[in-house]
Amino acid sequence: MPELPEVETTRRGLAPHVEGRRVRAITLRRPDLRWPIPPEIRERLPGQRIEAVRRRAKYLLLDTAAGSALLHLGMSGSLRVLPADTPVTAHDHVDLALDSGRVLRFNDPRRFGCLLWQPPGTVHELLQGLGPEPLSDAFDGDLLFALSRGRTAPVKTFLMDQAVVVGVGNIYAAEALFAAGISPLRAAGRVSRERYRLLAEAVKRILAYAIERGGTTLRDFISPDGAPGYFELELLAYGRGGEPCPRCGRPLKQAAIGQRATVWCGHCQR
Ligand SMILES: [Zn+2]
Repeated sequence: MPELPEVETTRRGLAPHVEGRRVRAITLRRPDLRWPIPPEIRERLPGQRIEAVRRRAKYLLLDTAAGSALLHLGMSGSLRVLPADTPVTAHDHVDLALDSGRVLRFNDPRRFGCLLWQPPGTVHELLQGLGPEPLSDAFDGDLLFALSRGRTAPVKTFLMDQAVVVGVGNIYAAEALFAAGISPLRAAGRVSRERYRLLAEAVKRILAYAIERGGTTLRDFISPDGAPGYFELELLAYGRGGEPCPRCGRPLKQAAIGQRATVWCGHCQR
């Protein structure tokens, strides 16, 4: 599933090819993705100049004077900028023809992604009530400490709460907790300010590193046969249940927390 680094990498890959371009036409090959595609996409987007490609949480926004197209990649979605005559393949659901002679093409085999509309001056309901961006200055250990007081939920569940901070998915929560030496099972309200400072720093460092790594896949966004821009990271905890802890060598534990698979070291993470 695309996590925040993949979405940010997608944004950075698209921006030079999309920003400043005018939408010539839009082709919708089906009426819906996860949700129906609203009529404003067809009615208002053609003719508009895309002023910016922004990201909020795992959503991408194509800003125009008439409003913003709001995209989510879901479980399996990808966006690519292709020559206009590139043959359409299975699951190519949406094309935005640009005045550069290229198309911005949305492919999504499982159709958990979405394409929605945000009128100017409004915030779509999906973007309301979200916590700060993890790479922004608004996210730090003090924020985590303040929001967690009195909370009995496991710290991993707390860290993945989009109202606390956006875009820290299962993989990055597991890795950041490992890096900070905090057990994912510990009650959120029982983690100290100092340890939350370490956790916030780990989240930022790991996400920034993943985004930096993603930069090497940028060419895929303009290659008709390139793979989507997802990438492998060297993960220290996630997906390694039963393997030796990279720090102490004891076997890593695995359990479900909030119905999400979680791996941690019972010795190094307390
Ligand atoms: Zn260990």
